[in-house]
Amino acid sequence: MDDCIFCKIASGQFESDIVYEDDDIVAFNDINPEAPTHILIIPKIHFESLNDVSDAESTVLGKINLVAKNLAMDRGIESGYRLVLNVGKEAGQTVDHIHYHLLGGRRLTWPPG
Ligand code: 5GP
Ligand code: ZN
Repeated sequence: MDDCIFCKIASGQFESDIVYEDDDIVAFNDINPEAPTHILIIPKIHFESLNDVSDAESTVLGKINLVAKNLAMDRGIESGYRLVLNVGKEAGQTVDHIHYHLLGGRRLTWPPG
């Protein structure tokens, strides 16, 4: 996707503070953090949202959960963190490349707004 900011981050065309990368996934600090730890974890392949992911393509989403766990462990926030996936504008999705927010390092309230 030529005009997708997260595709550009994944390919290194656009600068970001990358904290994890493998063949399929990249994780980077959110530019506008909502918590002491606020990392975005994305598949390198472009899906607009969870609504566009098929069975065959879903493996990478499972891997993202493990990447999130490992990042949480690395940062010592494993006693309380949140993995958030906003799907669609009504849920607050503003970037149309599927991304998980890893949030932690402070008390997180429930329910979310
Ligand atoms: P959404 O609201 O779509 O679930 O989350 C989008 C997130 O991407 C926001 O938390 C926003 O701060 C972050 N973001 C948007 N543009 C950039 C960028 O260019 N670089 C980084 N690191 N984060 C971004
Ligand atoms: Zn993209």
